[in-house]
Amino acid sequence: MTQSNSGISSSPLEKSLRIEVVAAIDIGGTNTVFGLVDEKGKVLLKESIATEHFPIPGDLVAVVSDHIRKALAQFQNTYELVGVGIGAPNGNYFTGNIEFAPNLKWKGIVPLAKLFSDKLSVKAVLTNDANAAAIGEMMFGAAKGMKDFIFITLGTGLGSGIVVNGEMVYGHDGFAGEIGHVIMFPDGRQCGCGRKGCLETYCSATGIKTTYQQLTTNNLQLTTSNQQPATKNKPPINSKYIYDQAISGDKNAIEAFNYTGELLGLALANSVAYTSPQAIFLFGGLALAGDLIFKPTIENFEKNLLNIYKNKIKILPSQLNENDAAIHGAASLIWKEIK
Ligand SMILES: [Zn+2]
Repeated sequence: MTQSNSGISSSPLEKSLRIEVVAAIDIGGTNTVFGLVDEKGKVLLKESIATEHFPIPGDLVAVVSDHIRKALAQFQNTYELVGVGIGAPNGNYFTGNIEFAPNLKWKGIVPLAKLFSDKLSVKAVLTNDANAAAIGEMMFGAAKGMKDFIFITLGTGLGSGIVVNGEMVYGHDGFAGEIGHVIMFPDGRQCGCGRKGCLETYCSATGIKTTYQQLTTNNLQLTTSNQQPATKNKPPINSKYIYDQAISGDKNAIEAFNYTGELLGLALANSVAYTSPQAIFLFGGLALAGDLIFKPTIENFEKNLLNIYKNKIKILPSQLNENDAAIHGAASLIWKEIK
């Protein structure tokens, strides 16, 4: 008798008849989402726990592993756990560590892949969340069959994953693909990374909010700084609110989308010079704004492209399901590894 990963004994024959699944784990500053995913991308389990309830990473690993084992047991050993994929902020693919993530309470270096691997007795791999989502797009989304593309997430910040010749670009130390921190304006808006003028301070949910607030204040011109006016008795301004305003014809909201798209288009046109991608995918809340964001982005992208690239590269919406993207990303990371 062999000890299975679900903690229930079974014969080697029973084991070989099981369907292989991976555990997918997405570590976020607020929540950790985890689940079980088969090779075709079918999500068999999805749960969420509050990351901040676990000041010690090992405690979160223990609880998540326990849930996964119990779920496998509930499926009465139909499934065989073959690996763990983890998407995490500042996740280093080469070391399996989370390194100095500003949005997590875990400080310093956290060997998360090793912790999960030890707990669940299977291989565990880790990368940053945007890279994981890019691999998800390649395995389960619109980048199927594509070998060269760039994947952009427009969330609180701007994340990116770059795929060249079918492989994720990690660079020499595991941290390649930080397009969100390309400096657009020296001495521009203050970025969370400690520097100024990074792309994500303009082209993200946070960035468009700053832009809109600057535009809607009479005395304040649109600037490259973070300066935000005080807002009194107004509904909370977020990218959804700005979208609704733009749809109803608010000139400032439309202008905020145009400004965001123009800067994004310029930054993407510059990115093309490094890898000559076939397509660029936009994912996340802002990408759901459709033409409002795509039109100015594509216009300024084409305008700023080197002639040899013009009219060749598509900027497309991601086909990853918003709700399952993190799980699909983490799952595809480990599936790509073991298959
Ligand atoms: Zn930055």
